[in-house]
Formats: sequence, structure tokens, C-alpha cells
Amino acid sequence: MKKNIRRKVIAFAAALGLLLPGFSAVPAVKAQAKTPVVVCIDPGHGGTNGGAAYNGLWEKDLTLQIATAMYQELSLYEGVTVIMTRTADVDLTLAQRAQFAADAGADFLYSIHLNASPSHNLFGSEVWVSAYDSYYAKGMSFGNIALQQLTTDVGVYPRGVKTKMSSKGTGDYYGIINNARLRGVTAAIIEHCHMDEAHDSGFYMKEGALEKLGKADATAVAKYYGLKSSVLGVDYSGYQYVQYPNAKTPRMQDMTDPEVAEIELLSYDKSTGKVQLYAKASDAQSSIIYYSYSGNGGATWSGLFGWRPAGAGYIELTLPEDATGELCIRVHNEYDRFTESNHIFLQQ
Ligand SMILES: [Zn+2]
Repeated sequence: MKKNIRRKVIAFAAALGLLLPGFSAVPAVKAQAKTPVVVCIDPGHGGTNGGAAYNGLWEKDLTLQIATAMYQELSLYEGVTVIMTRTADVDLTLAQRAQFAADAGADFLYSIHLNASPSHNLFGSEVWVSAYDSYYAKGMSFGNIALQQLTTDVGVYPRGVKTKMSSKGTGDYYGIINNARLRGVTAAIIEHCHMDEAHDSGFYMKEGALEKLGKADATAVAKYYGLKSSVLGVDYSGYQYVQYPNAKTPRMQDMTDPEVAEIELLSYDKSTGKVQLYAKASDAQSSIIYYSYSGNGGATWSGLFGWRPAGAGYIELTLPEDATGELCIRVHNEYDRFTESNHIFLQQ
């Protein structure tokens, strides 16, 4: 179902010539909210809950810095009241954060996080939203703006705007999103980048990097609500974006591997080990976002690379030292499920 709607949206955008790489933009009615809009920023973790810890840094400290930058930037806009669930290093339960937003009449709760993966090889940013009703529609509409803003302003790799339901199918998997929804508040988790992967280290460790992330978040919110700022000299009141429809039934996450993963050999230079492939990959429920390759029939794998081609494209690689000449790739979807391609045997 998700696929069909997405296809229609993309087809419509393509017909209008509005298609950007990875994103589609369709003129639509903006989010209509009361004035002023009440935006609740939630710096993830805090106190005894440190979150992820890498390179001598705690996620709870980084989220507070991103959130503070987001707060300061967003406060420069007119027609918006900005509140934060915490401004210090304190413990808060997810229910307390959601209740705080609900008590303040928040239109949206943005939960600020940084990521890490068990395999330490994922990179990029992603947005998690509710699978339900208008919470889904608002989450998806905002999430796509946010991801595009982070990609443009900061350069992080987009891993998608996604839903995830609890294994029992009785609510949203992520506690802050579920707790907010149960109190009538739309929430999104912004996972800005991965703390445990070298691709992303500059996006949170460089001087001024966290402020840049927070500003991008604020700009995304301003675009979503069509805000303007005379201080900043910007006016997003005419800003147009994809308005997702409400979810009539909950939007379950993609739980299957990509369906198509095929490679064809275009060229192989024995002397340099350089290989050119034509690769095809697709997934009916979500997008392909990464590929990796193996030169020894799948015994060992390269790191992940961003999957740029829209459905199919050229891959250039240099065979690793441990290559046996049996070449294959894996294509990974937004939910980190992967499929291995056919194997190609190079003439050694
Ligand atoms: Zn976190």
C-alpha cells in the first residue's frame, strides 16, 4: 500500500518535473495549525541514561547541544512558541516527556537523537514517525523535509523516513512516539547521524557541527509550518512540500529482504583489479540505500556504500586483497535488510 501511494506521488512529481534526487515535491496544502504553533523539542536521554557513547562523547550531551541550537534558531521565527523537555542533564521518562508536550498543547514533538548500530557499519540520518492515522501523515510530511534539509545543509546520507510498529502490532515501537500519540501529540525521532561510523564523525565531532544539525532541524520545522522570520530575512509561507495522506490502516515496517539484486560484468582490468558492474536492485516496500561487495564469493564483505542509482546503475570497485575472483554484491534497504546478488567469476 505504501508503495502504491509513493509511486503515485513520485509519478506526479516527475510529471511536473519536480523530482529531486531521492525526494519528490508536490504542491500541497501546508500544515494548518493554530497560531502560534507550539513546538516541543526533546533532547534524547539525560541524567543516568547517557544513550550511545563513542569517541569520549555521550549522546545525551550532544542531543542537548543540537536541541539548544534548534531552539535558538526556531525562536527567531514569528508565530511559534518553542519549548524543551529538558535544558539540563536530568533523567526524564518517555512518558514524562510526552506528558510535558501534551500539557503545553504542543503541535509536534521532535525527539533529538544520534545513532549507533550493532555492526558499527551504518551511516546517515533517518526520521522515525508514527504508523497511525494523521500522526503518520504529519510525521512523513515533516520527516521528508527534515531529511532533505539535513542532506542539503549538512551532507549526511539519507536513510529514510520510516515507521516501526511493536512486535505485537499494538502500537508504535518507539516509546516516545507511542507515548506522544496516546496523548494526542504527533512526534518524530530525528536520528541525526551515527556516532560509531567514520563516515559520520565530522557531522557531530567537528567545530560547529552540532549547531549546524540543530539549525537544519529548525529550518525544516519552519518550512513545515510555513513560518517566517524578519530577523533571518526568510519567509517560508509559500513553501510547498509533499503532504502525505492519513494512514487508514497502520503502516507496518518493511519486514522482507529486497526482491531484486542482479549484477552484470561490464569490464575487468586484471592489472589494476578495477571492475565495472551494471547493478539492478529493487524493493517493493522500501528503498534500497546501500550496497556492499565481496571478491571472494561472500566470505568477507566491503564496507557499505550509498546506493545512488534509481533502481539500476554502474558500480566501480577495486578488488580487495583477499579476492578469489568470485564477485557478488549485497543491496540493503532502509530497514537494513539485504539480498545477495548472483555471483560473477572473473578470469584471473
Ligand atoms: Zn538515542
